[in-house]
Amino acid sequence: MLFSNSKKILVTGGAGFIGSHLCRALLTEGHYVICVDNLFTGSRTNIKTLLDLDNFEFLRHDIVEPLLIDVDEIYNLACPASPVHYQHNPVKTIQTNVVGTYNMLELARHGKSRILQASTSEVYGDPDVHPQNEDYRGNVNTVGPRSCYDEGKRCAETLLSDYHLQNNVDIRIARIFNTYGPRMAENDGRVVSNFCLQALKNEPITIFGDGAQTRSFCFVDDTVRGLIALMNYTGDDAHDPVNIGNPGEMSMLELAELIIDFCKSKSKITTHPLPQDDPKRRCPDITRAKSILNWEPKTKVTDGMELTIEFFKARLTQRHVMP
Ligand code: NAD
Ligand code: UDP
Repeated sequence: MLFSNSKKILVTGGAGFIGSHLCRALLTEGHYVICVDNLFTGSRTNIKTLLDLDNFEFLRHDIVEPLLIDVDEIYNLACPASPVHYQHNPVKTIQTNVVGTYNMLELARHGKSRILQASTSEVYGDPDVHPQNEDYRGNVNTVGPRSCYDEGKRCAETLLSDYHLQNNVDIRIARIFNTYGPRMAENDGRVVSNFCLQALKNEPITIFGDGAQTRSFCFVDDTVRGLIALMNYTGDDAHDPVNIGNPGEMSMLELAELIIDFCKSKSKITTHPLPQDDPKRRCPDITRAKSILNWEPKTKVTDGMELTIEFFKARLTQRHVMP
């Protein structure tokens, strides 16, 4: 149902993991949502229950190609997010982040729409400041295997900032930290999906390096709430980057033990080489988000992991029934 204050909102990457949760949340708020996705890592399954809704439209389109539609707001999420996927075709990843973001900014300029960019904690690279606040400028390799993503996202932030300065486009920059939850892709090679599937199948858990490296995991509902809060924020500093993440930091070894425990798994831990440029520590300082958006994550990692494990368990069962 559309409400009197409902907006027409474009979500690029809307058939992906975070995007599909965001589309649902915006539809629940009564908005009209146009989901644009090239289905590289996203799927129709993720948006299956939305396709019949009157206030939802799906458009299969690659944002590297220009798009002309009239909308009030744009959430630009289109971009593969896991190392396995963004390294599959690194040149395309840069194109998506630079040319794709440019196309969305042109759309925002013509339509006078507000645009939010899904940036990332990867703009901090392998950080030598801990925890990372928004003023930290990062430690990023320009020519490594992660550069197509890290530098692509950094360039996207610059493009947004320059469109704001030069064309007065109303921008928002969300630096999203590791997010997990139902509808993560099973084949994305990320630590949460790998460990859940390995534990559920009683297969060896693959720790890269010694497992002492840390990440801070935010449940997808919290991330989505943060993105919407930032889009709606209209303070004087609304155009500055904001970290959206959960400050609960843990090592990959701790994560493996938690998941083995929850799955009551017989899996054993095995170690494998650490990928090049893998960040050693990552944890968001969310002081800014707390103070300007009154936002902070609500979901405990134990609760979020349980829901995520249930999701993967259901996926495995479905595959067993329908090979
Ligand atoms: P995802 O891979 O599930 O979703 C990305 C979506 O974008 C997919 O549906 C994919 O098909 C689509 N896409 C990719 N290239 C496209 C293109 N050129 N044109 C149109 N659609 C395209 O990833 P996600 O985890 O949902 O991430 C969403 C966004 O959030 C990404 O921009 C990512 O960089 C950012 N982000 C995610 C995380 C995380 O932990 N998941 C962390 C930081 C930032
Ligand atoms: N990782 C791991 N085993 C896996 C997959 C990943 O130990 O099977 C490690 C990876 O080396 C990194 C951390 O887990 O240190 C998070 O990896 P992910 O790809 O999920 O996210 P990102 O590195 O992009 O934060």
